Parts: sequence; C-alpha cells; structure tokens
Amino acid sequence: MPEGHTLRRLATALDDAFAGSDPRVSSPQGRFADGAALLDGLRLLHADSVGKQLFVEFGRERYLHVHLGLIGKFSVVPYAGALPPPVGQVRLRISSDSAVADLRGPTLCAVRTPEEVAAVIARLGPDPLHPQSDPERAWTRLHRSGRSIAELLMDQSVLAGVGNLYRCEVLFRHRVDPFRAGRQIRRPTWDAIWTDLVRLLAVGVITGRIVTDEDELLDLEERAARTGAASISDPTYAVYKRAGQACHVCGSRIHTKVVAGRNLFWCGRCQRRR
Ligand SMILES: [Zn+2]
Repeated sequence: MPEGHTLRRLATALDDAFAGSDPRVSSPQGRFADGAALLDGLRLLHADSVGKQLFVEFGRERYLHVHLGLIGKFSVVPYAGALPPPVGQVRLRISSDSAVADLRGPTLCAVRTPEEVAAVIARLGPDPLHPQSDPERAWTRLHRSGRSIAELLMDQSVLAGVGNLYRCEVLFRHRVDPFRAGRQIRRPTWDAIWTDLVRLLAVGVITGRIVTDEDELLDLEERAARTGAASISDPTYAVYKRAGQACHVCGSRIHTKVVAGRNLFWCGRCQRRR
C-alpha cells in the first residue's frame, strides 16, 4: 500500500510535469467524466500531499483530491510524438504535449472546493513529511488513548502518512510493544518515534522505497548527501513479512496478527512490555 512518501513523490512528479500549464483532463474509463470536465483546460497550479491524501490545485479554486487506497496507481510518464492510448481502466488522465498521468483504481477521486480541502486536512493528524507539522497534535490524541500504539499509528487522524510497513518497523526500531496502550507510552518514546519517522519518510521520498535498516539508511543518506539521489533495490526489514522467521537481533520467532485491518509483525522478545 502506498504510504506518505509515495504520495509526496507523486505530488512532485505532477508538479514537475504540469505545474504552470493548462493540461487536458479526461476520464477515459468514463467514471470521472463530470469531474474531469470541471478541470479540463484549467491552469494546474500546484500538487501537494498530506499523509496519504493528494491535492492538486487548479485555477478557479478547484482541487483534485485523490486517495489511492490499497491498489490505486497514479503514473506520471513523459512521452514524445503521439499521446499514448490509455491502457486498462483509467479513471483520470492528465496530459500535456510531453507528459501523461494516468490514475487507475483509486479509493477516491473527486473535485473539491478550498473549504472542502481545508476540512479534509483538519481531520488529519500531523504529517512527518511537512516541516511545519506539529507532533504535539499527535501526542495530544495518543497519550490519552486506551487503544494500542499499533492501532494509533495507523489512524490517519492521529498521524498522517504512516502505513503498515512503517508502523511495524518503527515499533521494532524503538523496541516498543505494539500492544501497549497510547496512554502507557512515555513522552520521550513518542518524541523518538516522531523524529525517526521524519527521517524514515524523508529517505522514502528520496529512494521511493521504505528503508528501515540502520546500515542501509546511513548508506543512503550518505550517498544522497553526496549526489542528491540514491536508490536501493531490495531493502532489509527486521519484522515486516517475516512471520515465523528468526529475529535478526535476538533469534526468537517473529509474530503476526491482524491489527487495524493489516498484518502487524513484531518480535515478542525484543518488543516485550517492560
Ligand atoms: Zn528480537
């Protein structure tokens, strides 16, 4: 599932391809024909993401609001010559003379007013990728809650942008028992998790991959500082999708259980309640 870093990369790709131009907007599949007609030919001003929500601002105070959900894909590709025909069920297409963006299978694709966009953002928790985000807002909700930290990290009204993979790995990185209630989490633990997520998501934006292994992170950050970019083909995970395998740290078995609708993975020994 796309997590916050995917949406941030997508917003940048849309900006690079279309910002400042008046692209064609259509719905080859037909399901978004009315919405596309409201945006077609308007100036595309700016694309931005908050958590897993994408907002593309057009002229006349109209916004495109997209949520990819579990299977949605929004590809932005350059082309030369004739516009490539749409392949499959393309809900939305944005195209210029040199780039085309096709959206398939989103959970949500709608045209919004500025007030509606503000209302959506107001319901979201802080996004670690936004420099002006206030982690205090997440703490306020988290430290009074009887729900588990594994549930709370997935709740987009607590924290925006974290999905299942970041959840599993960040809890392991801080050796936090995923079933500990929010109100049992100590402030320094939360501050460390937030600071770590800011770092992890930033590397995710650079690489397009979720990287949580410390050696891989240090290597990527060093390469990115030197060249401005870095990539990794096959990141190593401590717990994610490693159910039944041995923990790299303590050798005990990695557990799994569905929490907040997704398979949580954790080490029962390293992340034991203290
Ligand atoms: Zn372990």
